[in-house]
Amino acid sequence: MHVAASQSQGSGKEDDERLQELLSGIDDGELQAILRDVYRRDYEQEEFLQAVKGITVSIMPVLQKFPQYKTAYRLLLEPERQILFRVPWVDDAGRWRCNRGYRVQFSSALGPYKGGLRFHPSVNLSIVKFLGFEQIFKNALTTLPMGGAKGGADFDPKACSDREIMAFCQSFMTELYRHIGADTDIPAGDIGVGPREVGFLYGQYKRITRDRGGTLTGKGHTWGGSEIRPEATGGKRCVVSGAGNVAQFCVEMLLEKEAIVLTMSDSQGTIFAKEGLSRKTLKKAGRRGLGGQLSELEEEGVEYREGSKPWTLDDLGEVFAAFPCATQNELDGEGARALVKAGVKLVMEGANMPTTAEAADALHKADAKLVTGKAANAGGVAVSGLEMAQNRGLIPWSRQQVLDKLEGIMESIYEETTSAAKEYDTTLVDGANIASFIRVAEAVLEQGTV
Ligand code: GLU
Repeated sequence: MHVAASQSQGSGKEDDERLQELLSGIDDGELQAILRDVYRRDYEQEEFLQAVKGITVSIMPVLQKFPQYKTAYRLLLEPERQILFRVPWVDDAGRWRCNRGYRVQFSSALGPYKGGLRFHPSVNLSIVKFLGFEQIFKNALTTLPMGGAKGGADFDPKACSDREIMAFCQSFMTELYRHIGADTDIPAGDIGVGPREVGFLYGQYKRITRDRGGTLTGKGHTWGGSEIRPEATGGKRCVVSGAGNVAQFCVEMLLEKEAIVLTMSDSQGTIFAKEGLSRKTLKKAGRRGLGGQLSELEEEGVEYREGSKPWTLDDLGEVFAAFPCATQNELDGEGARALVKAGVKLVMEGANMPTTAEAADALHKADAKLVTGKAANAGGVAVSGLEMAQNRGLIPWSRQQVLDKLEGIMESIYEETTSAAKEYDTTLVDGANIASFIRVAEAVLEQGTV
């Protein structure tokens, strides 16, 4: 039967190839057995397996040096809890609609579950799990007491009216509320979930539970949100992909530093400004990006290239740095090779896992520095942690106080990452994975089989 076949280890040729891919370069028998186990259970979850492979390759020297960490890793690969639920709602035409909601509470070794919600048609269990798995290590890097989680739904806010979005968010929370709480699990935004959605979600949570605490982060800042939380995610020629929250603040900060920002993009194409984007264009592109139509942007000096990605535009010219800020796997081998040709020195991940393994390899060979999203975009969740602290203390901090604390956290991430990279004589990506893994693994071992 089809279902049984899809639950057992894959038997087709394609499946074998995927298992081989997962095991390639892992020359440790015990570790191979651990990965085979993951594959047996989750072999259809491509993005999750990709994230697992990425971390495993990075931490292999640590696991070999300290074999007890293998025990911790085996536990960490299985989420503590996975919640799937129905989200029924009524659209503007009066039709009954139904989506699937997710919350994967991956690890509470370091603190309450923490991580965003993604509303996008592509959302499935594999994507939520890869994001949740990565979140464990990103959150560990911040040194704040936060475990890792992620959630969302296969819902497309871009295709909906404000009323429909509110109806959806209220229905989503009517189920989710029973699984979250200020002490247990604190969601936030991700792709498709910005201040508007967080507002509707939090409103419904409050109505059901009568809780006035901080059970979501990324809230509006007149009603419990932290200063800086929106932009915390984020004379050289730079390319940026995406047009959402991360991309917009990334471009804004680059413009502040007087960089020349050549591109932004959405799922349909790329806007290209030969002389660099202006603040005015950024403002319009931001609004367009959220509405999903960069193609409709009309600005002097800005061209729209349908179906193109920023990296592979043939008249891009020289590029110093690239900032993939859209989504997973957006920078592939071809894109990375094009960037290398354009002279790229630095790739800073604003999105979660935007660079494929092949792309990372091409950048490494060309001596371009790749900074993993776990370090580079940890500012978002770090300020979520600070928002939680302010909510707990019932006292908001000033913009400057939040900025100072964030700066301290980002500096310590940089120091930890570089010192682990030095100790193990490896890349910054490996350094970030190693430093965060050790912190989580110690906590797992100390807490026992829970
Ligand atoms: N979605 C963001 C991330 O990937 C934020 C998570 C949070 O603030 O909880 O880190």
